[in-house]
Amino acid sequence: MKPIAKPNSLQVATPFEDRSSLETAAASRLELAIEGSGTGIWDRNVATGRIHYSRGWKALLGYAESDLTDGIEESYTRIHPDDLAYVQAEMQAHFDRRTDSYAVEHRIRCRDGSYKWVCSRGKVTERDECGQALRMTGTTTDVSQVHSLANSLQKSINLITNLTNAIPGMAYQYCVALDGTTAYCYVSNGVNDMYELTPSQVTDNGALIDARLHPDDLADWQTSLHACTASLQPWHHDYRVILPHQGLCWRSVHANPSRQSDGSTQWHGFVTDITERKRLDIELQEFATTDSLTRLPNRRHFMTRMHEELARVHRGQPSSAVLMCDLDHFKKINDSHGHAAGDLVLRHFADVLQEQLRKNDTAGRIGGEEFAVVLSGATLVSATQFAERIRQRMVSQTLTIAGQPIAVTVSIGIAVMLVGDVHVDAVLSRSDSALYRAKEAGRNRIEASCV
Ligand code: GH3
Ligand code: MG
Ligand code: MG
Repeated sequence: MKPIAKPNSLQVATPFEDRSSLETAAASRLELAIEGSGTGIWDRNVATGRIHYSRGWKALLGYAESDLTDGIEESYTRIHPDDLAYVQAEMQAHFDRRTDSYAVEHRIRCRDGSYKWVCSRGKVTERDECGQALRMTGTTTDVSQVHSLANSLQKSINLITNLTNAIPGMAYQYCVALDGTTAYCYVSNGVNDMYELTPSQVTDNGALIDARLHPDDLADWQTSLHACTASLQPWHHDYRVILPHQGLCWRSVHANPSRQSDGSTQWHGFVTDITERKRLDIELQEFATTDSLTRLPNRRHFMTRMHEELARVHRGQPSSAVLMCDLDHFKKINDSHGHAAGDLVLRHFADVLQEQLRKNDTAGRIGGEEFAVVLSGATLVSATQFAERIRQRMVSQTLTIAGQPIAVTVSIGIAVMLVGDVHVDAVLSRSDSALYRAKEAGRNRIEASCV
């Protein structure tokens, strides 16, 4: 075995023992420079188990020059017990030439008993002819500040992650690069509920979210996102998704864009579940527009449709016909069969109307036993045919309530919308007059307005 020189008492010693004074001066300058940067130097004689520490190394941990012995076993007692096995394994790996150099971060005990994070790097500088390590030199750098920064950074990350995971819905960061490529840089766990995807699925492939959008809502969703990316306005959009387990659901996104120095746009926002709210909205909308007995549009909704139709006619499109329908002697039905039976008759008439309607036609209940129909684009002739079908069905489809047949007939007045009608009241008034004439002429009849 090739002998190695015993470390000298001061500084790094052994490697420099037989040097010229020029070399010694250069080495001292190097050593001073290294130690001035918060790094200590050590030199280990693997064969004898002695280790020499530079003055700077000792100072790093608050030890005085005379505080430490040079026994390797004692050096292990200063390493944090949780880190010792790892440190020794890494050292052995390098001795065995499994690594090019030795480099570990670990905690080491200072003179005052506290632990400091250090980075220890070294290299075997001499081996015997069998390759056994004889000597190893290296440095120890104080990295406790970096570690405490990394710790506080990790704490901040944990805080943000825990907060965003705790809120209902999904918080996210989304990036749009200058070339138009997009990516979800961060998504909270809420993505499981919002899209039935995992955070890593979405950060790997953001297109999976697009694939969850309702096909009828995807284009609007993309258009509004692109518009806000260009204008840098806050984005709010409601849309539907179709999910494997939850099925059709409503989602709402709120997000704020900001332009980055490289020209890309970064979005921070959140997605929430608004399915229940949308369901209530639809229900409320239905309450506000539908007659609860017959399920037909109520008077208010019917009038809105009338205004739309008149506006269409004013734009020069084909005219529409308006029918006023009134059940004949309805009071008698109530009187002889009871109010509940009267209600069933009203429902029956509504069903007869519904059966005959085309897609753009609308029938509404506008009073007790009064109904109106607007037939979009219909002429007086086609409207009369429609009315006749209704009248005949009421005659032929006698309603039986509690075993008793109830004969109900209807009188109908028809008028056509005119370009000159400034307001819907004009056409309603003409169809009402026609209805009056039908009643006067004996009921169960159809009359049309001449103008
Ligand atoms: P006409 O042939 O001239 O139209 O006679 P009519 O009896 O049908 O007309 P009238 O206006 O005298 O009576 C309408 C009746 O409709 C009076 C009212 O009690 C009844 N009515 C109004 N709303 C309802 C309802 O929601 N349910 C029931 N069962 N009856 C209603
Ligand atoms: Mg009436
Ligand atoms: Mg009536």
